[in-house]
Amino acid sequence: MIVVMQMGATEAQVQAVADAVRAKGYEPLVMPGEGRTAIGIPAALSTDERMTLESIIGRLEGVNKITQTSHSYKLASWEYHREPTVVKAGSQRIGPGSFTVMAGPCSVESYEQYLAAAQAVKRAGAKIIRGGAFKPRTSPYSFQGLKMEGLEIIKQVSTETGLASITEVMSADMVGAVAEHVDLLQIGARSMQNFPLLIEAGKSGKPVFLKRGPSATIEEFLLAAEYVLNEGCPDVILCERGIMPMDRTFTRNTLDLAAVPVLKSLSHLPVIVDPSHGVGVAKFVPAMAKAAMIAGADGLMIEVHPDPNEALSDGSQTLDPDQFSALMDDLRVLAPFAQRTL
Ligand code: PEP
Ligand code: MN
Repeated sequence: MIVVMQMGATEAQVQAVADAVRAKGYEPLVMPGEGRTAIGIPAALSTDERMTLESIIGRLEGVNKITQTSHSYKLASWEYHREPTVVKAGSQRIGPGSFTVMAGPCSVESYEQYLAAAQAVKRAGAKIIRGGAFKPRTSPYSFQGLKMEGLEIIKQVSTETGLASITEVMSADMVGAVAEHVDLLQIGARSMQNFPLLIEAGKSGKPVFLKRGPSATIEEFLLAAEYVLNEGCPDVILCERGIMPMDRTFTRNTLDLAAVPVLKSLSHLPVIVDPSHGVGVAKFVPAMAKAAMIAGADGLMIEVHPDPNEALSDGSQTLDPDQFSALMDDLRVLAPFAQRTL
């Protein structure tokens, strides 16, 4: 933390700040500058400690501003991590260099539907099959997923196709059961701040795919990742999936593609973009998927269904196998420009 004094602050005002810092048990570093003095507090402060100190110093005469020199999310930041993290999921490596596409239906609906989806996305070049067995739906009357039966289907189809698998876990008590059936645990946007779930997922031994909450700031997103990392799980993937829009006329959410370079600058964790939930309209998905690759994403999550018109959830944002295959062709053309192999 650095306290910057006002222009012409008096010696007594500088001393008062230094004394307040000392009174809290930290050693201040007084740095006189041209006209302005700065006071550094070179200590690793918890959020509570930082806020207490800020509030004490902020009330003192002659203080101009207080800035942070280190992040509240330590494990997710570059502070203690020099190399980008490459997450291992089954036979897949997710991170810089490669470009990982996870694709499949919003929901697992039947063995036949899921197998057909998996075969189609595999043919087109996807490496991971996605599909929800437990569905977080806005309405309790909407299809809620096949639950345990869905997990069995996911495992079977993953084994039969050789694709790695990912599915959402919605509650802490289900982490063990879900982890037994898949290669990656997905934590949905609505669950991003379900702290008991984050903690349990972090203990599962599986990589965790964390979706950004619809109204989460970048810092809240990284702090959610911090919960998982703090349990000793090094394999966390960040997923930008769209934030609350100011206009729902044409898109479901606002896909925050600027979050990709921002997250990359703040964190060593891989970043995946989900343009399907990000825009919510199938015909806009390919453009945003390609933009995500160029923005620096490490991969994509895309909803694909053998027949989107028959999908039990999110059909309107779902690509059919031909559309998905055309998108993968375009991504292969773009990949060299993004220094990626697909
Ligand atoms: C999903 O991936 O199907 C899903 C429900 O996503 P989100 O949590 O981003 O809404
Ligand atoms: Mn969906």
